[in-house]
Amino acid sequence: MAYINENYNKLKAGYLFPEIARRVTAFNQANPEAAKRLIRCGIGDVTEALPSAVLKAMHAAVDELGQRESFRGYGPEQGYEFLRQAIAQNDFKSRGIEVEADEIFISDGSKCDTGNILDIFGAGNRIAITDPVYPVYVDTNVMAGNTGDADESGAYAGLHYLKCTPENGFVADIPSEPVDLVYLCYPNNPTGAVATRAQLEAWVQYALKHKALLLYDAAYEAYIKDPSLPRSIFEIPGARDCAIEFRSFSKNGGFTGVRCAFVVIPKGLKGKTRDGGTQAIHPLWSRRHSTKFNGTSYIVQRGAEAVYSPEGKAEVAALIEHYMGNAALLVEACRKVGLPVFGGQNAPYVWVGTPGGLSSWEMFDRMLNQANVVITPGSGFGRAGEGYFRISAFNSRANVEEVCRRIAAL
Ligand SMILES: *Cc1c(COP(=O)(O)O)cnc(C)c1O
Repeated sequence: MAYINENYNKLKAGYLFPEIARRVTAFNQANPEAAKRLIRCGIGDVTEALPSAVLKAMHAAVDELGQRESFRGYGPEQGYEFLRQAIAQNDFKSRGIEVEADEIFISDGSKCDTGNILDIFGAGNRIAITDPVYPVYVDTNVMAGNTGDADESGAYAGLHYLKCTPENGFVADIPSEPVDLVYLCYPNNPTGAVATRAQLEAWVQYALKHKALLLYDAAYEAYIKDPSLPRSIFEIPGARDCAIEFRSFSKNGGFTGVRCAFVVIPKGLKGKTRDGGTQAIHPLWSRRHSTKFNGTSYIVQRGAEAVYSPEGKAEVAALIEHYMGNAALLVEACRKVGLPVFGGQNAPYVWVGTPGGLSSWEMFDRMLNQANVVITPGSGFGRAGEGYFRISAFNSRANVEEVCRRIAAL
């Protein structure tokens, strides 16, 4: 019989979304009439159709594959040159950021990338994550054996939790002790917080000083409206020596179902070896990626390339404007009823304090039963999320307007 990876037994059995689903199903069965009015503002998934520029590019790519002369089989594991060049040019060089095409690795999603990156790091790293947090960072570290067991509150031994609260604007403070790996995500899921240039500069300074590595998840960079806010960690001087960036087409181009993302690893970025030496990280990821991954589909990469066409850019801007219009309405509706509201300015998530000392799950039940609206309990993202809930702006305008009316009537 084969031994299993017992680290999986430490996981808190995917508690959040299955529990939401369980409560929603129970509600629907008990209240078939109210179930018809149910509006879901829970899961962070886009709702609007793909940009037509993307559709056209993918249709054309399908046709190419249908002809022997233009057929393509396996592509380069790191991604097609046309897409890596388009990313380097449009996301970085045109903004004065130094990132070369061969520092970009195309993949089928940031969820996989942020999890898989642990393959190239050894045991014994001191790992810092924010609280609340995107659960993938925590669970993948548990699976990799980088933690001990969870305590009653759900906190894992061995992880350094960086508490995010209204006091620090939900942007993690610099740790008081040295750590080796730090997960940062701005604009943030779930809190909608954004890090200022000064805050990211402080993080880069910390990382350079302590030789820490920042794992920077910029999946929501397209939602930044304020031009003074950095959209990439590589806008910060020194970041090329201490950071990896994760980007995705999921939230800008609406690729959550299509699947395309990328990792940026500067060629000069280094890690250390047990014998006291240093080693470049870029070749390790290149090796990992080409050994365990066979490339994102050609059709999808052509679709992603179209995100950078003039037509694609205009359509993505319209999508962002739509979702951010929703966020503004939700922020306003919560504010009007006197709830403490955060986020929603440069991110598609609105992070709201519960009224009257309700717990996150009590608020979830109240919203479900009284407003027939599904939200996400903040405590599902970590202990520091207790007393908050997340409303997603990913919805139709009509649904958001109705949610706002129901919040007003609560
Ligand atoms: C949605 C999201 C992503 C994107 O994940 P994909 O796998 O590329 O769809 C990455 N990070 C965070 C925090 C997200 O919320």
